[in-house]
Amino acid sequence: MACGALLLIRIADAQTMISDAASRLGNLTENESLSVSCPYCLVSNEVEIGKAPGSSIIFCCRECVQRFHVHRSFNGRVDVRQRASIAEVQCMNCGDVHGIKLKPESATPISRWCLKCFVKQRIDPVNGIVTSFVPDTPLDVQQLSRDGTGRSICECPDCNTQLRAFAIRDGYIFAACYKCDNLLRMEELEVANN
Ligand SMILES: [Zn+2]
Ligand SMILES: [Zn+2]
Ligand SMILES: [Zn+2]
Repeated sequence: MACGALLLIRIADAQTMISDAASRLGNLTENESLSVSCPYCLVSNEVEIGKAPGSSIIFCCRECVQRFHVHRSFNGRVDVRQRASIAEVQCMNCGDVHGIKLKPESATPISRWCLKCFVKQRIDPVNGIVTSFVPDTPLDVQQLSRDGTGRSICECPDCNTQLRAFAIRDGYIFAACYKCDNLLRMEELEVANN
């Protein structure tokens, strides 16, 4: 009899666990209502946003009527951003975080390489979310010259276009040919001569 009671309790426990898991799964498809400060006028607004990471909405402030982004990041935190701003993008492959300039008016995904693991990412231009990525390898090229501001110039080996570097990282200088989809890498030399 005691044993039967114990078994019942165990089944009840299991049912609780199953319904907990189900409600946790259910939570990710639900919306959450919370108050956020408008990034323009700082007035508090009630917004509804999905509980799933990556949920994103554009919201219109009740006070200043400016539109802003509310975004649920990978760690569950809710961020508020002005519409045209720099977004923090997290590489889906290596977790590296880098800033990109959002293009809220654009319908074309932004293409960016992760300069740590070199995957090429497609990024939603409105909310800065990485939607897909493909592995890639940078092409090693020589620096040809420098422009007036000291930025390295190299040539795309496929189309011979001269390109200006856009970033320096881990001892390398990077340039991109978006025509050929090439990430170009130069060794960072001449540092001592600057
Ligand atoms: Zn406002
Ligand atoms: Zn990466
Ligand atoms: Zn090219």
